[in-house]
Amino acid sequence: MIIKTAEFIKSSGRWQDCPEAVMPEYAFIGRSNVGKSSLINAMLNHKDLAKTSQTPGKTQLINHFIINEAWYLTDLPGYGYARVSKSMRKDFEKLINNYILNRKNLVNLFVLVDVRHTPQKIDLEFIEWCGENGVPFSIVFTKVDKLKPNAVLANVEEYKKELLKTWEDLPEIYITSAEKKEGGDAILKFIAETNAF
Ligand code: GDP
Repeated sequence: MIIKTAEFIKSSGRWQDCPEAVMPEYAFIGRSNVGKSSLINAMLNHKDLAKTSQTPGKTQLINHFIINEAWYLTDLPGYGYARVSKSMRKDFEKLINNYILNRKNLVNLFVLVDVRHTPQKIDLEFIEWCGENGVPFSIVFTKVDKLKPNAVLANVEEYKKELLKTWEDLPEIYITSAEKKEGGDAILKFIAETNAF
């Protein structure tokens, strides 16, 4: 898919305030610092459309963009800040969960995972929650330029093994580097194919 236009629409603090659900929507989520903003910007060929490294503890918002005047890209707030209060974390979870469960035009959720780490509890729990709630998702490994190709493969295999403990089938998996602008095309291809753009 060629990106002709990518426009920021709005930030919403509640799922009810999100833009009208008139186009197919694809959302990106992951732990804070996973490289989500960098990947979105690399994929859309924009320097700073998605804002990198939001300050932890600040109000977290759902950001909507319209791509090619045909679909919404949603940048969800990063989960798993260690330093925020318990009540803030709960609000946060509620915002994300409500958005995911209520957003009728949501086609797929891309769950970002840093390829350098062993499978983390918080990500596995989130993935499990997606499964329990029938949320369609894919896994996107980020920052693969930080490891040698063999180490990338080994970590991805380890992740797959972990997933296969609870899942019969594996989800779609993408291997990306925002730094090297790799892997974004495959994600855009998937988006195009699920919509016949
Ligand atoms: P976010 O909090 O998930 O939006 O993460 P950011 O996009 O702000 O990235 C967090 C940090 O990781 C920043 O310092 C980025 O420069 C760095 N980063 C993000 N993606 C990559 C990547 O593909 N390769 C490398 N080497 N660094 C990355």
